[in-house]
Amino acid sequence: MYDYDLLVVGSANADLVIGVERRPAAGETVLGSDLAVHPGGKGANQAVAAARLDARTALLARVGDDGHGRLLLDSLRAAGVDTVGVLVGGAPTGVALITVDPSGDNSIVVSPGANGRLTPGDVRAAVSLFHASRVVSTQLEIPLETVVEVVRNLSPDSRFVLNPSPPRPLPTEILAACDPLIVNEHEAKVILGDACVSDVPEDWARLLLAKGPRSVVVTLGAEGSLVASSAGVTRVASVKVDAVDTTGAGDAFTAALAFRLGAGAGLAEAAAYASRVGAVAVTRKGAQDSFPTAEEVGAP
Ligand code: ATP
Repeated sequence: MYDYDLLVVGSANADLVIGVERRPAAGETVLGSDLAVHPGGKGANQAVAAARLDARTALLARVGDDGHGRLLLDSLRAAGVDTVGVLVGGAPTGVALITVDPSGDNSIVVSPGANGRLTPGDVRAAVSLFHASRVVSTQLEIPLETVVEVVRNLSPDSRFVLNPSPPRPLPTEILAACDPLIVNEHEAKVILGDACVSDVPEDWARLLLAKGPRSVVVTLGAEGSLVASSAGVTRVASVKVDAVDTTGAGDAFTAALAFRLGAGAGLAEAAAYASRVGAVAVTRKGAQDSFPTAEEVGAP
């Protein structure tokens, strides 16, 4: 019996957002809107998305001993995430400095801060969380050697889900553990590198599978997703909605997919549920604020 449906190992950031008429040139100052501070980071986003769906969720992460760290801990607890694995101190909380112009385009500078100090030793010290979790998911906003240690500490029957964002080439040890590897187009192309000789998503999925993951999911925004394993490649339709803000859709999709896989759903079935979750998320502004509850999504 597992205590947690999902253990997320990953980043927690404070997103500091200012609206601007235009971005300053070097040496210039421009005035912007009031500052908005939102809890974010792909790890915290996935954990909140899963907990909203009533998954019993824990987060292994590191924040600073500062106001942003307390904001993140409060938002995680408010969503029902177990924060026993959220370590405090060692560096300031990770921050994303975001400017948004009138056309809605973002420019972002990230200071990884405490996320960069989540070490392989922190993973080993949290081994009891790994033993207590049915599914473990992570992303790449923490050091790669920490992700390698996650893979080495999985319990034999738990399942590992990776969204390699921001993307970089991955060692075979990580790729071979993924079930599934979840990528969008950009991530697929970076991981495949020179091997990406096609513009057809089905081909990316097959080429990625050949690199070792037990399964692959390619997300295609409004076009839905496709799932691939040794059983073949299957398209999963999106839910038609009027999208207002796609921020965090990938995190909501990944969390929902990981949760349903842990509950015993097949890959296509889990992706269909995750599509419903992603579709709700894009109809609302923000990242964590946009994630639906289990009740809003309806029965799996
Ligand atoms: P992001 O990095 O913006 O969080 P992503 O690029 O990782 O997202 P997407 O492919 O944009 O991931 O979205 C994940 C899933 O969310 C899609 O596979 C789809 O099911 C759903 N989704 C995203 N955008 C839309 C949309 N416009 N309409 C309906 N569903 C959507």
